[in-house]
Amino acid sequence: MKKNTLKFLLCFAFIFYSLFIKAQTTAPDEDTGSYTTCNADGANATRTSNDLPNPVNLGTIDDRSCYANYKESNVYGKTWGIYNITHNSNNQDSNSLQPRIERALSASQKTGIGSFARFSGIFRILETGKTSSSGSDGSYIAQAKGKHTGGGGSADPAICLYLAKPVYGTGANSGKQVSFNIYAERIKYRGGSGSGREIVFLKNVLKDEETTFELEIGFKQDPNDTSKKIHYCNAIIGGTVFDWNVPEPERATQSKIRYGAYRVKGGRAQIRWANTMYQKAEVDNQSLSIEDNQLSFSSIKTYPNPTNGNFTIQLNHIDTASISIYDVLGKKVFQKTNVKESLEVVNQNRFKTGIYLIKVSNRNQKVYYNKLIIN
Ligand code: CA
Repeated sequence: MKKNTLKFLLCFAFIFYSLFIKAQTTAPDEDTGSYTTCNADGANATRTSNDLPNPVNLGTIDDRSCYANYKESNVYGKTWGIYNITHNSNNQDSNSLQPRIERALSASQKTGIGSFARFSGIFRILETGKTSSSGSDGSYIAQAKGKHTGGGGSADPAICLYLAKPVYGTGANSGKQVSFNIYAERIKYRGGSGSGREIVFLKNVLKDEETTFELEIGFKQDPNDTSKKIHYCNAIIGGTVFDWNVPEPERATQSKIRYGAYRVKGGRAQIRWANTMYQKAEVDNQSLSIEDNQLSFSSIKTYPNPTNGNFTIQLNHIDTASISIYDVLGKKVFQKTNVKESLEVVNQNRFKTGIYLIKVSNRNQKVYYNKLIIN
């Protein structure tokens, strides 16, 4: 018993010591000096004029800070994008908006099921905006965006922002930012800002801790109502999953992602990004329209559906037809012409688990759709 207690205490002391040492560490690529609003070498003429020729981080630069321009460092075996901004340093919007150095990734412009924008990378946070008001503290490290129909809110609205707020140390570390609480700032309705967003705590990361980050925003079928879809915004931060469904999915028109450093209502923010990757898919929305579904119910019957084996597509009141089957990415995976009355499709592992769209065209080029689920 005593031996176990000793082991426990030693273990605890080691962990505590490790955290203490880590938290005290100054990052090798940290900007540790006193800071100003503007520096001559950070005063880019336009938002995109001072990017590196071949930046290691993906996306189009949006530099709205005269404190620094985008730079890179080679530390911890990786090349890191450096995003440093200070209070009041926006040199692009007449100081009317918060400073930022971010990268914009090309939007997924379709809203069909299977459309998505997916970003991943590794971040380190060295410093975030500091104010005396807790509601104004912190800086955003990434955000999901997307326009919507019907008006309301910003012309280019944020949907879910990932906000890092500073946590200060005690004793020798008093007044120093030793770790950061990561929050999701999510809209409560389309166009919501300020009180129209909710701020949800996600997790704490240490200063300079290499943290993996994945963010995917896109469209999937509502499992409770196949005539509806979900606009999801899912993040995985340091291996922990934080899924969320965006309000009013039917109003969404696109899915976009930005990352870097954005907002510093006091002090300075320093974010680093490495190993950035980006992928997107754009799937037309036709499969879900009510009209298509109504037509399909009377004109095409697919059974069994869902299926894990062979299936039959039966045509009602359609003469000779051409049948094509598409996966969720819109890729044609099957085709058969001159089909009459019905067609049995032998699966033979040709169809992986997922949702497929069956397209039936008759001689007059009238098109009918049906949905197929392989499970
Ligand atoms: Ca700049």
